[in-house]
Amino acid sequence: MIFTYPIDEHRFREQTARQAPMPGVTMPTFVCVACKRRSVTKGCKQLSIGSICAACNQAREYRRAGRTQA
Ligand SMILES: [Zn+2]
Repeated sequence: MIFTYPIDEHRFREQTARQAPMPGVTMPTFVCVACKRRSVTKGCKQLSIGSICAACNQAREYRRAGRTQA
């Protein structure tokens, strides 16, 4: 039995590496409820009010940490 998977995987990696610098074209996007900007779902956080982007999530975590620790 001959497996073609390693070749397919290599092609897939080549393709994704080439398309990676174009967010919005290949990556799923959403509108952040905090900053109202369109951003990629990578690193986003699901909240009861909606999804927030990675940057807003980080700011939110930072604020929350500052409140509880100080
Ligand atoms: Zn945001």
